[in-house]
Amino acid sequence: MPVVIESDCINCDMCVPECPNEAISMGREHYQVDPNKCTECVGYYDEPACIPVCPIECMVLVAD
Ligand code: SF4
Ligand code: SF4
Repeated sequence: MPVVIESDCINCDMCVPECPNEAISMGREHYQVDPNKCTECVGYYDEPACIPVCPIECMVLVAD
């Protein structure tokens, strides 16, 4: 169940340093999460670290 960044992302860069797996990077038009790298932060934090720092709440957990 990786995190997905929705298309309304404003490219603010806030989420990038939060990710322990370096799963977040700039995509063609907005930031994106590599589903092969995102582990939902298991082993690092109790909850996904990226979601609460997003100022416009455009990061969501999705089913595989
Ligand atoms: S949930 Fe954790 S591992 Fe996944 S993208 Fe967010 S910060 Fe990175
Ligand atoms: S914190 Fe939210 S708006 Fe900012 S780059 Fe990440 S996903 Fe996009």
